[in-house]
Amino acid sequence: MVAANEPEFQQAYNELVHALQDSTLFTENPHYKKVIPVVSIPERIIQFRVAWENDQGEIEVNNGFRVQFNSNLGPYKGGLRFHPTVNLSILKFLGFEQIFKNALTGLSMGGGKGGSDFNPKGRSDNEIRRFCVAFMRQLARYIGSDTDVPAGDIGVGGREIGFLFGAYKQMQNNFTGILTGKGLTWGGSLIRPEATGYGLVYYVEKMIEKASHGKETFKGKRVAISGSGNVAQYAALKVIELGGIVVSLSDSKGAIISKNGITPHQISAIGDAKIKHKSLEQIIELSASAFSGSNSVQYLAGVRPWEHVGQVDVALPSATQNEVSGPEAKALIEAGVKFVAEGSNMGSTKDAIDIFEASRNTGVWYAPGKAANCGGVAVSGLEMAQNSQRVQWTSEEVDSKLKNIMYTCFENCYETAIKYSVEKNTESLPSLLKGANIAGFIKVADA
Ligand code: GLU
Repeated sequence: MVAANEPEFQQAYNELVHALQDSTLFTENPHYKKVIPVVSIPERIIQFRVAWENDQGEIEVNNGFRVQFNSNLGPYKGGLRFHPTVNLSILKFLGFEQIFKNALTGLSMGGGKGGSDFNPKGRSDNEIRRFCVAFMRQLARYIGSDTDVPAGDIGVGGREIGFLFGAYKQMQNNFTGILTGKGLTWGGSLIRPEATGYGLVYYVEKMIEKASHGKETFKGKRVAISGSGNVAQYAALKVIELGGIVVSLSDSKGAIISKNGITPHQISAIGDAKIKHKSLEQIIELSASAFSGSNSVQYLAGVRPWEHVGQVDVALPSATQNEVSGPEAKALIEAGVKFVAEGSNMGSTKDAIDIFEASRNTGVWYAPGKAANCGGVAVSGLEMAQNSQRVQWTSEEVDSKLKNIMYTCFENCYETAIKYSVEKNTESLPSLLKGANIAGFIKVADA
């Protein structure tokens, strides 16, 4: 089921199976056990060669993949990742997570994931366009608005979705919703770029409300965020809007730490420059005036933020998988963290999760990515619905549906955790790790 050379997939598989086994689900419903082997093998894996021409007129070759993992709930749905580390283990873990995440949105979407080991960093716009056209030339025959609907992920944003959609439309002579995350003028949904980050914060709003019996909100909370892409940027903006203080952001080269709180102006400077693949260190230099005086930040090269943020109430890992280690989880708890929710997929290592989970009885509450970051794919589902009807909803309509999906997802995880709990200590916060895995699994298993 899990090959020896698939550590990331093994980790995602173990997380699900352990959550199910460590609950009353199988004692009450032994037939569910039979579903595990069925959902842990992808229905189909497509692997292809992508040959494309660089600016020097030379041919370069990359691996392309699409893992069509599970279609019990609807068409395969999930992003495309362009990153040099992409391999089948990573795409299988992401596709597997996506099945249960999509189930938690309450919408009709199966799970899939794809991508390439192509590295967009340092490539010109023209090279990225030629790569996307070559990639879609291979992928087009396997996707469709009722078959498989890819979207973005790391390395694939609005620009790449545009190149991919244009290539598909020309090849197939068919204008249809085969991708989500599209531009607004050609079928995209309002709030899609913001959705993962906003959704993450809506989910944590409910965690804070529940844990404090309605007494606390984001107001005045110090929030550590990693990453500086789409998810991190919009999570940071929503935290600030709700009165929180964003004390960090990061990229693959280092972290910025801000005592007084990162400002919306700084986030927009980061957003503009990140499209051009500038590093945070370069951005601070390029936009020196935005990062000076009372708004100055500390740049720390070669580190993640967690051990450097000082006193903190909330942590939102929003960069990539396994970006919080055991020692970093300990450091966060020592720094006062009470709420940890993943904007990234499988953001915490197994060691880190064990530490967070063991601290639930002291008021530390952890939410896995498959629940906390499902807002992105949820609005992708809303984009599919708008495309089918050939309509466009307003920002307010989409945002209120997103909020509702995140609040319902939280309640579902919370109630499910209580229902199937084997824990003796009823004072402790229920495990959202278990609640999310069990609730997602039950929906897919029933289907
Ligand atoms: N890549 C995002 C995720 O991990 C979004 C997928 C989608 O919109 O299909 O959920």
